[in-house]
Amino acid sequence: MAEEMKLQVITPDKEFFSGDVTMVELNTADGQMGIYPHHIPVTVVVAPGVLKIHMGSELKTAALLSGFMQILPDKVTILAESCEWPEDIDGARANEARIRAERRLTGGSAETDMARAEAALNRALVRLSMTDKK
Ligand code: ATP
Repeated sequence: MAEEMKLQVITPDKEFFSGDVTMVELNTADGQMGIYPHHIPVTVVVAPGVLKIHMGSELKTAALLSGFMQILPDKVTILAESCEWPEDIDGARANEARIRAERRLTGGSAETDMARAEAALNRALVRLSMTDKK
């Protein structure tokens, strides 16, 4: 059995995941990252993407939207704005969010907050990428 570390993922309303894992993969502001036990201590900004939780040969995936991650040699803690298992994602809602964001981005209105619309589009696309595989 590969070496393990603790992973805790906390969202504003609950503890989303807590357990022993062998590897964690996720998107960060600096790009894709894979974390194994004994990583040097560092704090990282989480970017929207698929969170992959490896427990030996078992793999769990979740849509991780944004947040912060503290990495310690024996523990990874993710404070997430939101995190969802594929079965909890409402595909129709995500598709509506995608259409809304795309309209804002292509509409070219001076009042549109482009960064906000882009972030919303990104969240919708991550959610949709996971509902495709349901
Ligand atoms: P929307 O415009 O549909 O609210 P959003 O990207 O702005 O989408 P968030 O701010 O990321 O939504 O999330 C707000 C809350 O709603 C979070 O608790 C999140 O888990 C939940 N949520 C958002 N979209 C979905 C979805 N498609 N399926 C399930 N839960 C969702």
